[in-house]
Amino acid sequence: MELPGVVEIRDAVASGETSAVEQTRSSLDRIERLDGGLNAFTQVFGERAVARAEAVDARLRAGESADAIGPLAGVPVAVKDNLCTEFGRTTCASRMLEGYASPFSATVVERLERAGAVIVGKTNLDEFAMGSSGEHSCFGPTRNPWDPSRVPGGSSSGSAAAVASGMVPVALGSDTGGSIRQPAALTGTVGFKPTYGTVSRWGLVAFGSSLDQVGPIARSVEDAALVYDAISGRDPRDSTCLDRDAAGTFGALDDPLEGLRLAVPTQARDESIEPRVRLIFGMMMRALSERGVEFEEVELPSPDQMLAAYYIVAPAEASSNLARYDGVRYGHRAELADGDGLHELYCKSRTEGFGDEVQRRILLGTHVLRSGYADQYYVRALKMRRLIRSDYDAIFRVMGCDAVLTPTAPGPAFELGSKTDDPMALYLEDVFTVGASLAGLPAASVPAGFVPEGDRQLPVGVQLTGPALGDARLLRVAREVESAAGFAGRVAVTG
Ligand code: GLN
Repeated sequence: MELPGVVEIRDAVASGETSAVEQTRSSLDRIERLDGGLNAFTQVFGERAVARAEAVDARLRAGESADAIGPLAGVPVAVKDNLCTEFGRTTCASRMLEGYASPFSATVVERLERAGAVIVGKTNLDEFAMGSSGEHSCFGPTRNPWDPSRVPGGSSSGSAAAVASGMVPVALGSDTGGSIRQPAALTGTVGFKPTYGTVSRWGLVAFGSSLDQVGPIARSVEDAALVYDAISGRDPRDSTCLDRDAAGTFGALDDPLEGLRLAVPTQARDESIEPRVRLIFGMMMRALSERGVEFEEVELPSPDQMLAAYYIVAPAEASSNLARYDGVRYGHRAELADGDGLHELYCKSRTEGFGDEVQRRILLGTHVLRSGYADQYYVRALKMRRLIRSDYDAIFRVMGCDAVLTPTAPGPAFELGSKTDDPMALYLEDVFTVGASLAGLPAASVPAGFVPEGDRQLPVGVQLTGPALGDARLLRVAREVESAAGFAGRVAVTG
């Protein structure tokens, strides 16, 4: 089944064929019907959303053009619950932030609203965006709309499930090591992690500050591009945000695309990848070569090296970012017993407030930064990060490839609970996605096919990684892959 996407809704609102209120209500109705089974939302802002939509409709009725209102006029959207909103709560799916109301909204949230979008709710996630399954949430796991016994991927689990089930046409996620792309792959949606620094992180609760980037999950490359353009561009409130105008990727989606050359790393066909994923990947390559795409076999640092670098750098930064939740200045405060002092206050508050995976990351990060150990772990990981960057650079600049093509994840959606006791198994989900994160490069996951599983069909995605600031070209290439595969726009839940 297909439902209207962002561009279609926007055009229909602009032409008066539908209204912002009608679209918002239909999104809210679908959430009402489906979210009990999926648990994609942590909060729904019914009244506020309808009021915002009424305001858009009133402006249109008063004669203002949709263009003047903004490129997303009347489009219902959802945002991951690690983005601050001055309305509702900002929870990061953590007990630590239970009941936390942010005094301000993230830049990306403000920009969505300024573009005319209607925020209908905030989506579930792995606590503080740490995880690849959506199971590490204090609100309970999100389920995959293609098969509710399976995970939707993570950490932007709710955003992916909300879009795949048609509850919203687009949602924002955040991506530190794959959290937009891997859930997109597991739910048959398009996920785009932009070049580091092109989207403001102001108001995104920090996990790994040198890696975190906000981006869209949508049902087509076109929709993702439109939303990326709306949220991108300079922001003096984030010092790592580049001094550049908003991206213009949407307008470049029809640029001519000749002589496309894609790099395929040897790992993309490694034995450790599920055979079904390798099969779809091979079919994708054949479909593309029929369209005249050329392939280059390339070498990148091994999966072990990539994962080791990521699982040192990300936890190191996380341990520092999460130090502020001490029960005094920020976060949950534990009840103290007689005789407890400051140490007990910290210890009890953090033990009660943080879930297991977050505690594991803090311990890991603290360990790799310890004096006497930092050289052996953290500094070495930074060196590996440099090497990874220069390897990608060689692929784009020296070999002249347009993008690197890999599977997005080593397998399709897995059963809930099947990897919860084995953190290492879960970390392996990130084998193809952490490279772009460490190198700060733009990367998109596009649906490439479906594999049968019992009486279900499970989506499989492929990932394209491009050169820094080549976001427009990368999305142009992603659109080519999307059209070669022919699976865009599908919604998992009918009715
Ligand atoms: N799965 C990775 C992790 O757990 C990536 C998470 C993310 O991108 N936020 O760290």
